[in-house]
Amino acid sequence: MVTTDARDRLDRAQRATRDAGIDALIVTPGADLRYLTGYEALPLERLTCLMLPADGDPVLVVPALEKPAALASPVGALDLDVLAWGETDDPYALTASLLPASTTTVAVDNHMWAEKVLALAAAVPKARQVLAGTVLRELRMRKTSAEVSALRAAGVAIDAVHDRMGEWLRPGRSEREVGRDIADAIIDAGHARVDFVIVASGPNGSSPHHDLSDRVVEAGDPVVVDIGGTMPDGYCSDSTRTYVAGDTPPKAFRDYYSVLLEAQQAQCAYARSGVSAESVDRVGRDIITAAGYGEEFLHRTGHGIGLETHEEPYIVAGNELELEVGMVFSIEPGIYLEGRHGARIEDIVVCTTDGIERLNRTSRQLAVLDAGG
Ligand code: ZN
Ligand code: ZN
Repeated sequence: MVTTDARDRLDRAQRATRDAGIDALIVTPGADLRYLTGYEALPLERLTCLMLPADGDPVLVVPALEKPAALASPVGALDLDVLAWGETDDPYALTASLLPASTTTVAVDNHMWAEKVLALAAAVPKARQVLAGTVLRELRMRKTSAEVSALRAAGVAIDAVHDRMGEWLRPGRSEREVGRDIADAIIDAGHARVDFVIVASGPNGSSPHHDLSDRVVEAGDPVVVDIGGTMPDGYCSDSTRTYVAGDTPPKAFRDYYSVLLEAQQAQCAYARSGVSAESVDRVGRDIITAAGYGEEFLHRTGHGIGLETHEEPYIVAGNELELEVGMVFSIEPGIYLEGRHGARIEDIVVCTTDGIERLNRTSRQLAVLDAGG
């Protein structure tokens, strides 16, 4: 992350904190801390937190033994106060002493461990605790052009893996064997970390979050392959394609795959800034329901993506949020026939000034991967 970008994020977070009437944000290790400082801190039992006051200078509180790691991270270039606490100090009392004297409301990280939330509450008994996510989500879901570039690069990297699927996915190999090859390729394509590898063949494809099993892929099996990783800069990839192994798939599958493809295409053509998140879901769900598969589309259409694979905005019924230029999210309808097979098509898209840009571009047409690879 560029230092000026991080400084700008801290400034915007501080303004948003002030506007929300919150006295300070307390951010512990995770995507929010990485977003604000670039520091990928270890989530330890010892307290590490950024105290960002509505007014005044932010302070990063770290265990003394983590201080070198913190300074070696982008924090070192941020001109940020780093305060180390010793092994026998009380880090909660220390953090409480940094809060503005008049503090009545503290916003804590949405993913802060409960034991830390309670210890902090005990150290600041007069303050009300609220969620920092309500402030930070507004920032994180509106990506800067640098963030969109990072997500575009993540899309290119995961597409390179899907492009090679014919090398690995064929009848006679187990999901686990195929998954191991995919995981290696995710790293080879430039990711720093493999986040998930779903290879769901035949009946396993009817479970949207199946991962890997010892089931051996059979000729004619539809296979849902949903994969993603984290790039060295922290931004995530996520793309699903449904393949057919070796031979012609069942007719029932071909019938609904074409419906799914039409629905996903319609959603991508429709999504743009100014429409609501829930309306993007509705456009695809209407097509799938009209074809008789409404009950089989058993999850929301998508999720935002950035420093986390799943973040705001969620593309789901009930979310009236208006999409804006710079929002990045998945469009991933699926149809699942219980106990038989399933299909999902997933692209990450970014809202542009004229519609959306797909960040995943491998073919969505039904492809039979030949037995010979
Ligand atoms: Zn996804
Ligand atoms: Zn996915």
